[in-house]
Amino acid sequence: MSGRRACVNCGATYHIEHVPPKKEGVCDTCGEALVLRDDDKPETVQHRLDVYHEQTQPLIDFYSERNVLKSVDGTVDMKDVFTAICNILG
Ligand SMILES: [Zn+2]
Repeated sequence: MSGRRACVNCGATYHIEHVPPKKEGVCDTCGEALVLRDDDKPETVQHRLDVYHEQTQPLIDFYSERNVLKSVDGTVDMKDVFTAICNILG
């Protein structure tokens, strides 16, 4: 996540390794400078991971042990995620 870069002018997003702009630090679409948003800074990402391990993982373990945990693939299209959740909820 800390490799993400955003254009504050047009909202385009990039990743320094996976989706780099043609010219480093410059938006392909509008030519503005790319920035590292506060919520993508390494210390912010680390904090989010700490909170995940402290607060979310125990819930996953709790429901998983009781065989009532349902999972959806959150990497697919948003409407497919929504459909999957609705199917689980009935
Ligand atoms: Zn732009």
